[in-house]
Amino acid sequence: MSTTRWLAEYAWLPDEPEPTADVLIETVDGRITLVAPLAARTPPTAGVEVLADAVRLPGLTLPGLADAHSHAFHRALRGRTHGGRGDFWTWRDLMYTVADRLDPDSYLALARAVYAELALAGVTCVGEFHYLHHRPDGGRYDDPNAMGAALVEAAAQAGVRITLLDTCYLTATVDGQPLTGPQRRFGDGDANRWADRVEAFTPAGEHARVGAAVHSVRAVPADQLGTVAEWARRHDAPLHAHLSEQPAENDACRSVHGRTPTRLLADHGVLGPTTTAVHATHLTSADVNLLGGSGTGVCLCPTTERDLADGIGPARRMAEAGSPLSLGSDSHAVIDLFEEARAVELDERLRTRQRGHFTPAALRDAATVTGHAALGWTDAGRLAPGNRADLVTVRLDSARTAGVPPVGVFFAAGAADVTQVVVDGRVVVRDGRHTTVDVPAELTAAIRAVITS
Ligand SMILES: [Zn+2]
Repeated sequence: MSTTRWLAEYAWLPDEPEPTADVLIETVDGRITLVAPLAARTPPTAGVEVLADAVRLPGLTLPGLADAHSHAFHRALRGRTHGGRGDFWTWRDLMYTVADRLDPDSYLALARAVYAELALAGVTCVGEFHYLHHRPDGGRYDDPNAMGAALVEAAAQAGVRITLLDTCYLTATVDGQPLTGPQRRFGDGDANRWADRVEAFTPAGEHARVGAAVHSVRAVPADQLGTVAEWARRHDAPLHAHLSEQPAENDACRSVHGRTPTRLLADHGVLGPTTTAVHATHLTSADVNLLGGSGTGVCLCPTTERDLADGIGPARRMAEAGSPLSLGSDSHAVIDLFEEARAVELDERLRTRQRGHFTPAALRDAATVTGHAALGWTDAGRLAPGNRADLVTVRLDSARTAGVPPVGVFFAAGAADVTQVVVDGRVVVRDGRHTTVDVPAELTAAIRAVITS
């Protein structure tokens, strides 16, 4: 049994509106076994003997952050698509040229570096929305799950947990045009063959689990949505779907199916408490009620949505309707869950010209416990006994955070303020550096290997 005692200068405990000072946290074999604010002890000197060997955590310690929506390979596009005009669809063309060049070895190298960058930002668990399944011409690898296995291994090497959201991607358009060019490697033919391939995949390692995803109503024909939903239900697996990121997708869905994408997903059994809709930007009031009423979660990706000029989703209305909110860095144009979290509030302010839609604790929950739950890890994201020993410590003495009260950290800190990250009891980031990966060097090499301009 391996026991560690940590003494956090501040720790943000569940159900507390603000962080608490001087909290003793004990972890045994990757689980939190004790969380004790010292001020609550009577007499106050009780327990001093156990503090002698406690590891001090200066700053604010949070539960592990969950990045609930990632496409690891999009990281290669950072800084390459932001300068000019063009829209979501022109960005997508460049993204496809990168997708075309990856194989299991180069994807392992790239994803290992990206996941290590996530770890540096305090992310302890990533939801990888994975659809680069096959060879560029659509042929199978000897192991048809070689690309998924590479992502699972990448997460292991980077020291984070992963939910591999194996994505069903069958058609190019809502009216069923076949996949061509770089899209060919995404497709399994039909949903049954997708299910057979996923069924055969057992991820290596305790750090990984498999979930399902419907790429979008564009990529899965209506009559096959139920097959994916049924697979997820049968395996008690999380189910994710891109939803209404672009008005053009809504228009096409209305014209082909006579209803909104949300309605279409609802009619085919895709919505529910273990489902997460990603983006949910352009919704009708009825859509908001369908999502909330079914308990479907919503993963917002504000830095990507702003980069791609998608628009601002109705975050407050969705939360009020009953949708738990989580966060994703999606295209990785930015990897900073603090920025994603405050954007949920700040974008709502821009839209409504009013302040105060989400409390700091609500933003913390979106970044931590709700994100983990959306990825199927219901025992993570809270600093409480029984939870996984994920501890993310943020310094309060940087140029950004100096003088900021701990409760203000989601409005002040950035990824660079994360000093220490513990995942399942193991230290993955210490003094702001990854313990096993030279993140800048590996990112540089991995991106050079797949992009030439
Ligand atoms: Zn996405």
